[in-house]
Amino acid sequence: MRKTGFICDESYFWHDAGSGVLYLPPGGFLQVEGSAESPENKRRFKNLMERSGLYDMLMLIKPFPATEEQLMYFHTKDYIQRVKEASEKGNVLVGSFAMVGKGSYEIAVLAAGGTITAVDAVVKGKCDNAYALTRPPGHHAQANQGNGYCIFNNAVIAAHYAQKELGLNKVMILDWDAHHGNGTEDAFYSDPNVLFVSIHQNELHPSSRGYIDHIGEGEGKGYNINIPLHPGTGDMGYLYAFEQIIIPVTNRYKPELIIVCAGQDANMFDPLARMMLSVDGYTKMTKIVRELAEVHCGGKLVMTHEGGYSNAYVPFCSHAIVEELLGVSMGISDPFITAFDGASYKILADHHKAKIDEARDLHVS
Ligand code: ZN
Repeated sequence: MRKTGFICDESYFWHDAGSGVLYLPPGGFLQVEGSAESPENKRRFKNLMERSGLYDMLMLIKPFPATEEQLMYFHTKDYIQRVKEASEKGNVLVGSFAMVGKGSYEIAVLAAGGTITAVDAVVKGKCDNAYALTRPPGHHAQANQGNGYCIFNNAVIAAHYAQKELGLNKVMILDWDAHHGNGTEDAFYSDPNVLFVSIHQNELHPSSRGYIDHIGEGEGKGYNINIPLHPGTGDMGYLYAFEQIIIPVTNRYKPELIIVCAGQDANMFDPLARMMLSVDGYTKMTKIVRELAEVHCGGKLVMTHEGGYSNAYVPFCSHAIVEELLGVSMGISDPFITAFDGASYKILADHHKAKIDEARDLHVS
């Protein structure tokens, strides 16, 4: 069994992402509904680990807050100040679909710090790998504004931390959230020292981002890899993309640390995406990344939680990821998969394959 660090804090569940953000706003024709980005599925993930016994096998690590200097590895001073002021008022948008609730500044700082804490523990060898169950998520956050439920870009700040404070040279960020990691792409678009790979649903969020031909610029050209997938791509399509693109580009790059932006909203029940990943798909993707980290980085792998909005299914997907990080099985079978028996998630459709081949032809010779 491997030693897996787990970073979480009760305050992560208390971040108020507002109501009316994507879900029904007040004043319409139907009862108001809260934000899709609710703490519910993250807490249920943690509860499931407690119930299964997985939680007892984890090395619990308390997150430390990011310093302002660390936030400024990516964000502007003005933006940090804006978030601080928004947090004092509460319920203020700091970007498109990015609500800051009362007290959210401190929570967002602790979320960025949680991902830093995970990187710190893994790189210093306190644990083999780590999962940071942070909230709010980070991968859409831009230098000067929030976006898509994200306030500070946790993975970007943690990657900078690994390089500036721990002396690493080459970091890989793999973003398997169903949405494109636009903020992370911005951060390293001209930087060859971070390989950014995003596998996401084509044309989802943000619009006009995540295209195959966005490959980086200047010295960073070739180090930004977008793998947009057609809606409906399931386990077989994702595994094909890993085999054809993600494994070879990782072997070519030879990172010293892999950070996964682990948004489990490509799951087949997710309300905010139209992908078809099963629990088993997440297990297999995690196994591949874990093995890549073992080959190139002495196993150094950090997962930082991003999206995922199905209260029923995200807990099982995330639980399976942690099982694979630890190298154990708690014998929990996917309770919902029979509903999709024979469905398309097990099939690599021609048009799904063609889209993946297009990205492969650009990045893998
Ligand atoms: Zn997402």
